[in-house]
Amino acid sequence: MALKMQVAVVERLGKKLVLQEWDIPTPGPGQILVKTEACGVCHTDLHAARGDWPIKPHLPFIPGHEGIGIVVALGAGVTSVTEGERVGVPWLYSACGHCEYCLSAWETVCAKAEFGGYTKNGGFAEYIIADPDYVAHIPPGLGPREAAPIICAGVTTYKGIKEMEARPGDWIVISGAGGLGHLAIQYARVMGLKVCAVDIDDGKLEHARQLGAELKFNASQPDVGDAVRRATDGGAHGVLITAASLPAFCQGLSMTRKRGTCVLVGLPSGELPLPLFNVVADCITVRGSFVGTRKDMAEALAFAAEGKVKADIELQKLSSINDVLDRLESGNVASRVVIDFSDT
Ligand code: NAD
Ligand code: ZN
Ligand code: ZN
Repeated sequence: MALKMQVAVVERLGKKLVLQEWDIPTPGPGQILVKTEACGVCHTDLHAARGDWPIKPHLPFIPGHEGIGIVVALGAGVTSVTEGERVGVPWLYSACGHCEYCLSAWETVCAKAEFGGYTKNGGFAEYIIADPDYVAHIPPGLGPREAAPIICAGVTTYKGIKEMEARPGDWIVISGAGGLGHLAIQYARVMGLKVCAVDIDDGKLEHARQLGAELKFNASQPDVGDAVRRATDGGAHGVLITAASLPAFCQGLSMTRKRGTCVLVGLPSGELPLPLFNVVADCITVRGSFVGTRKDMAEALAFAAEGKVKADIELQKLSSINDVLDRLESGNVASRVVIDFSDT
């Protein structure tokens, strides 16, 4: 095994990532070492590298929470995975396993949770240290590059759609048809929901249509909320806001049907003013949703392994990471970029 690995590091918030050679880490007791095959680039990596959120990551750190790879070494006492297994190292890197949230299968909100590519070094590296109890198990038949976006963008939107409590035949809005949104549309179709896609980019809307969205609206058009309400005969039963843009949140609320649920998953910095009268009088539920549990992960991966949901990916090398992040910031990534480690 080589002693050094290529990594992309955030040394200072808001600055470009720095490509470095680090020692390959050794898994301690209860840890595993994963040799990375592929890692998706999520808009969250951009928020992380810019320091957009109230809880700042400790510097330096390696972003990336859609890392897929092969287990190459086990620390002492590890029995739940075996060498040679293909796993994913997700945003939910680990949790305590004992608190009220962990005990009720809400490990995603455990106060002691660690986050891959944020509080723990992530997948923009040739090797990753992971917690075997929280890795995603990649089903046979699903390649590492296709699996990568599923372990964040896929599970997050799959869970977010479940949180709408919409029924087959209901209308749902997917606001933001990028990395998360293009998978959300596919999960929604598999779940029998009718999709109205909303984005500011006509190319992404056209792609949304190809993926099965029956309606599409450009969010830049005036009164887009009214237009969506008219087209869906009173608003969508569920609205999933994946856009990393605050205006999309106010618009999304105005697209929600009476007694409908507006699920917030995009994470731009800022605050959302609620139109109280409408939310109260229309009995609207506004609900945050954060990635998904290990059970949600297994379900989301199963849809992909069965070919019902397929990530649309563009492959790039780790050396292009700053260019990829710039393109993500300016909206110039069609769906998902996946860093391919196969020749590095
Ligand atoms: P992305 O950049 O691939 O996609 C965002 C999409 O939103 C783009 O298609 C963009 O054109 C569109 N958009 C921008 N402004 C819009 C507007 N006003 N109305 C409608 N669409 C608009 O990003 P991504 O990787 O899909 O991530 C999106 C957001 O989701 C980020 O904030 C990310 O941090 C967050 N996220 C949250 C979770 C969670 O668990 N809640 C998990 C993953 C990502
Ligand atoms: Zn993500
Ligand atoms: Zn816990």
